[in-house]
Amino acid sequence: MIVIKNGTVVTMDDDRTVYFGGHVAIDQDRILAVGPGEYTGEDAGTEVVDAAGMVVMPGLIDLHFHTAIGKGYSDHLPLWEYLDACWYPLVRNLDAETAYWAAAASYLESVKSGVTTVNDMYRRLPDLARAAVDIGIRAVLSNDVALEEHNLDTLQDNKDAYDAVHGLADGRIQVRVGIEWLPLASPALLAEARALADELGTGIHVHLNESLTEVEDSKRRFGRRPTEVAYDAGLLGPDCVAAHCVWLSDTEIALMRETGTHISHNPSSNAKLGNGIARLPEMLAAGINVGLGHDAA
Ligand SMILES: [Zn+2]
Repeated sequence: MIVIKNGTVVTMDDDRTVYFGGHVAIDQDRILAVGPGEYTGEDAGTEVVDAAGMVVMPGLIDLHFHTAIGKGYSDHLPLWEYLDACWYPLVRNLDAETAYWAAAASYLESVKSGVTTVNDMYRRLPDLARAAVDIGIRAVLSNDVALEEHNLDTLQDNKDAYDAVHGLADGRIQVRVGIEWLPLASPALLAEARALADELGTGIHVHLNESLTEVEDSKRRFGRRPTEVAYDAGLLGPDCVAAHCVWLSDTEIALMRETGTHISHNPSSNAKLGNGIARLPEMLAAGINVGLGHDAA
């Protein structure tokens, strides 16, 4: 048993109760007790953690995450140029060992920041899973699926990863279907991604409406805005996390609400890349479930 004492315990219960100088008692993977003052059920083998001056809170969920190598490279570039000059060349050349260590370093950084679950879209999922198991974090993994000419991942890669590692470590490792973003996809690929997710009984992770250039690309190639294309392809739904959603029209906000799609709001990434400021008040007013993600950099 582990007993955490003297901490400021932020319970996040229905009343948002906070215990100043409270305790949390844990046995294996179960919380036995949360409350004010001292815990009285300690036994001889109890490990006591003195959390004086610290906050004790539920683990954070990083709703949009990428394992990252090469942090700090090409930091001055806007999104599209950054992807072409830095991100895609790096991830196209990823080998198993690099993926493992990049993920281990990224997950360790997360744990040290209070994050216990990452929603990680990246490549070489079995190697990421090994890192997540070793670090002890909960990881929801999805591939960087794009049209074949972009030399990233395919839906077959994503299915293979699902078959290989979904459910590992008592369910701490889960695999979802990932779609990189619309500029590297087609309506047919989105529909196939939905079909695969339904076949596997798993969810979807996608970048949507991240930059104005993405919206313009979608209008030029498909005659509609990104979320409209995703909606028509059946991609959206209560099992789908859409990342960024900076440039949503009123119509697109309504589509998110109608489908019960969850949005990862990534303000630091949006600011760093100069992508703009998401319409958070309108999303929340529409009743959309919005979580926070840090993205990659
Ligand atoms: Zn991202």
